[in-house]
Amino acid sequence: MRATLIYGAGDVRIETVPDPELREPTDAIVRVVRSCICGSDLWPYGSRPATGDGDRIGHEFLGVVEDVGRDVSGLAAGDLVVAPFVWADNTCDFCREGLQTSCRHGGMWAAGGIDGGQGEAVRVPQAQGTLVKLPVGEDSALLPSLLALSDVFPTGHHCAVTAGVGPRTSVTVIGDGAVGLSAVLAAQRLGAERIILMGRHKNRTDLGREFGATDVVAERGEEGVERVRELTGGDGTHTVLECVGLRPAIETAFAVVRDGGTVSRVGAPQYPDVPADFGVFFRNITLTGGVAPARAYIDELLPDVLAGRVQPGKVFDRTVTLDQVPDGYRAMADRSALKVLIQP
Ligand SMILES: [Zn+2]
Repeated sequence: MRATLIYGAGDVRIETVPDPELREPTDAIVRVVRSCICGSDLWPYGSRPATGDGDRIGHEFLGVVEDVGRDVSGLAAGDLVVAPFVWADNTCDFCREGLQTSCRHGGMWAAGGIDGGQGEAVRVPQAQGTLVKLPVGEDSALLPSLLALSDVFPTGHHCAVTAGVGPRTSVTVIGDGAVGLSAVLAAQRLGAERIILMGRHKNRTDLGREFGATDVVAERGEEGVERVRELTGGDGTHTVLECVGLRPAIETAFAVVRDGGTVSRVGAPQYPDVPADFGVFFRNITLTGGVAPARAYIDELLPDVLAGRVQPGKVFDRTVTLDQVPDGYRAMADRSALKVLIQP
């Protein structure tokens, strides 16, 4: 079968790799129907040292089960399933606490000999705990939004949930990438009364308005902080959802959160320490967030996606074949695409 490998910064190739086979009785083989490129794939795409051997890549996919190991129940060949961006048994103590990203028997896609999602098929470890059955056919128009359940929509939701977003909550979302826009959608779904989206790409913030943003702040840095404070009577918002992961974003987050409020970050931090000094302490700011246990949220979010009440798949603005995946990476890296869907 063919799959995507990354050899170094800017060097993504489509190559023939061995077909996946059942190895453990808890495995399943899934033929990939849709996959996509993640903003976090752009970190290795921007900086991975060049090597002679490539690494598999991709951690978001949905597909059709082709075969299951003897210990897998509840799944059969022909089922359409979505995979969260971390695989997990869904039975250990961490999983029962809703923290499948810390599963004692789980792990990451495209690491340690595990297949990546950007290919024609995947061997899925801990299949029964990992995969979620979808009650639609592989020709469903809902596939993009169902694929968003793999990562971006649960990540935006995790950001909103850990921040404590609910009715009567004012929210600032920092970042107009796919996760930031998903956080807007999640905050709106949770009933937030005011959602200020900080982003400077008009086509993206327009989608943010469609997802529920009540205000858009295009300014950045000091100017952006000033603008959010103006919009909130000088106080800032109860919650701030930081969906970027760079130091200026977390600095802005602390500057626009209301005293006693909460900053949640789901942008993978590209900075070593959090600038939470005495001022942040004195204002009683809570910092929360982290990697999203997508599996914990899929059961709750799936009915709204199936009913069309939310359409997180609108973040996909380009579709490529497997052969065009290198173009997809280039488009996301130069920001001409928001999020790229792969149809192998
Ligand atoms: Zn577990």
